[in-house]
Amino acid sequence: MFLVDVHAHLQHELFKTDLKEVVERAKAAGVRSIIVNGVNEPTNREVLKLCEMDPILKPALGAYPIDALGLDLEGDSGLTRPVHKIDLDKELEFIKSQRDRIIGIGEVGLDFKFVKEPHLQLVMRQNFQKVIDLAEKIKKPLIVHTRNAEKETVEMLESSNVKKVDLHSFGARKSVARKAADLGFYASVPPVCVRLEHYRMICDVFNINQLLTETDSPWLGPVAGERNEPKNVLESVKFIAGVKKFAVEEVANNVWLNYQRLFG
Ligand SMILES: [Zn+2]
Repeated sequence: MFLVDVHAHLQHELFKTDLKEVVERAKAAGVRSIIVNGVNEPTNREVLKLCEMDPILKPALGAYPIDALGLDLEGDSGLTRPVHKIDLDKELEFIKSQRDRIIGIGEVGLDFKFVKEPHLQLVMRQNFQKVIDLAEKIKKPLIVHTRNAEKETVEMLESSNVKKVDLHSFGARKSVARKAADLGFYASVPPVCVRLEHYRMICDVFNINQLLTETDSPWLGPVAGERNEPKNVLESVKFIAGVKKFAVEEVANNVWLNYQRLFG
């Protein structure tokens, strides 16, 4: 069985001491590919370096919407990692320069949960448009984060020429999820699905040929409060199998083909 994790943050400090073991455990579970996502300048460079460690690790470079605002955020940003303000134009140039090394552009998107001021949401949209334009230009798939901005995100993608999109940990309501599915976008399901009813709807709305598996490691694990890791994509595969009433093996094969179609 071939498994894939299309969204992980193995550069996170929670993996500093045992990354090798984490990768070995993933391999032992059948994981053949892990897309490691950067979120800002320092992590993008860490991701590139880390992916040299093992051929199953594939780099994606991104600009997290909050970091990309370039604000000096003091205190609690609401994120469980440090925010590094990004010089977006410069970082997009860097990502462009790495086009032959990367499998996709991510993590990018919109986050209106932590940024509620309309003028900042407007800047965030302008920033995301720059990212979309880059994806069009260098023909790379987008790995998209969207929170409390699902409708806006899907509309922006719809009015672009970008076709290759993975909506990571997609929290959209049903009508927006259906629209994204109709547009041919993919949705990646994290292991937190086993304890969130929402993912039943996502797995139901998206065709089996549009579903992917991810972990968002170290977050979104099957057990609350425990560090998540790529081997847990099996939980997502089992969950999809349960909703679609397919065999686990069949789902794994489909997801692997979907991965190849989107990122190949
Ligand atoms: Zn993420």
